Amino acid sequence: MTETYRETAADANFIAENNARHMWHPMVDPKKSAETPPTVICKSDGVYIFDLDGNKLLDCSASLWNVNVGHNRPEIKQAITDQLDQLAYYNTFGNASNPPSIALSALLTDMLADEGMTKVLFSSGGSDAVEGALKISRQHWKLVGKPEKTKFLSLKYAYHGVHFGGVSVSGGIPWRRSYEPLLPGCFQIDSPYLYRNPWTGDPDELGEICAANLAREIEHQGADTVAAFIAEPVQGAGGMIVPPANFWPLIREVCDRYDILLIADEVVTGFGRTGSMFGSRHWGVKPDIMCLAKGINSGYVPLGATAVNGRVAGAWEADSALAPLMHGYTYSGHPLACAAALANLQIVVDEDLPGNAGSTGEYFLGRLKELETYDSVGDVRGLGLMLAVEFVTDKKTKEAIAPFHPYLMEIQRICLEHGAFMRIQANKLILSPPLVFQKDHVDNVVDILHTALGQLKYG
Ligand SMILES: *Cc1c(COP(=O)(O)O)cnc(C)c1O
Repeated sequence: MTETYRETAADANFIAENNARHMWHPMVDPKKSAETPPTVICKSDGVYIFDLDGNKLLDCSASLWNVNVGHNRPEIKQAITDQLDQLAYYNTFGNASNPPSIALSALLTDMLADEGMTKVLFSSGGSDAVEGALKISRQHWKLVGKPEKTKFLSLKYAYHGVHFGGVSVSGGIPWRRSYEPLLPGCFQIDSPYLYRNPWTGDPDELGEICAANLAREIEHQGADTVAAFIAEPVQGAGGMIVPPANFWPLIREVCDRYDILLIADEVVTGFGRTGSMFGSRHWGVKPDIMCLAKGINSGYVPLGATAVNGRVAGAWEADSALAPLMHGYTYSGHPLACAAALANLQIVVDEDLPGNAGSTGEYFLGRLKELETYDSVGDVRGLGLMLAVEFVTDKKTKEAIAPFHPYLMEIQRICLEHGAFMRIQANKLILSPPLVFQKDHVDNVVDILHTALGQLKYG
């Protein structure tokens, strides 16, 4: 029986017919998957992916903004198969360990030396990395004798993955509602969202207002009850919100003033996407804990990591019954994932992908601004290769087009027809291609968007 099913993976008709029949897809109503079956990707190379019919498509989202070095890189495939010949898998619980995970922990702390990171805890993805960060924060405060510091503060529109802890600090209503009640003691403050905020159109003023809001919330809760503030250096899934330049430096100051740990969720921004090696480095800020995943090995094998600075790690020097890290996964430090990461990060550094993300991203943003002449385009924004086009029903009122409205899905369909696969997130088009994207790819994408927007009208 199993043999038959293994063969069906190679049977195009079976795949096309059964795609949405038995598999639930994340982040969609299963009825919708059945009505419009998802695009099946069968093959990939560089910045291109290929669907079931063999159509070659530009991957404008680097899968989920994680295939940073591009698809089908021989260096990474070689590293994985070499490792496979030695040791496919062994765990890192207790006293067990394996060479690639040890090497990667040394590389990561070296890459994060400027931030003072001294330890990493491996996991299987971004949600895991966030979970580790939250639990480590609480354990840290217990070890230093401040067990009451347990609350977490975060931003509205934040996305910190889907585990109960992560979703409790996430600020998007759709991710929360079906799973409430969530973790108690989590509170969100307003996000520094320049396009939509009740206060000001001046970035510096907005940064000051939002940082002051954090300080007020900490005072309201009582600093002695707050463990950490967590945020993405650029908010991703919640809307591609680039904060004003003064925001992160100001929140670092606020966290220091009230003795609160600062957690940077760098799952998207880590390893070059914003044009800097790390998103918080772009703002000149050193967090206490950093959550890493996605770009860490460009998705070749699932991997996440939580990095901790010397100050936080210092708490574990205490002789305490609470010192054991009672957190970690069967796949923490998976040898194949770590070997893939070692090869991936070599490419990121050798090819200066942060540099390319910065320059190609700037060019991309400039060309996307052309789209602001269309009535439905309210805002175009981004940093590095993390860009978004936000759609509205009316430019003056800024009323958002309903999430996944047929108009947006039609834009996506036309782009697909012209050879570009793009992601729609609520009322936004997300552009987050592999960091090896070049100007001619950008021109191709923007030309296709002109075609789509030129022939479609909202309403
Ligand atoms: C994707 C993402 C996560 C969750 O990562 P998974 O690997 O999907 O669990 C967490 N935080 C941010 C900022 C993300 O973009």
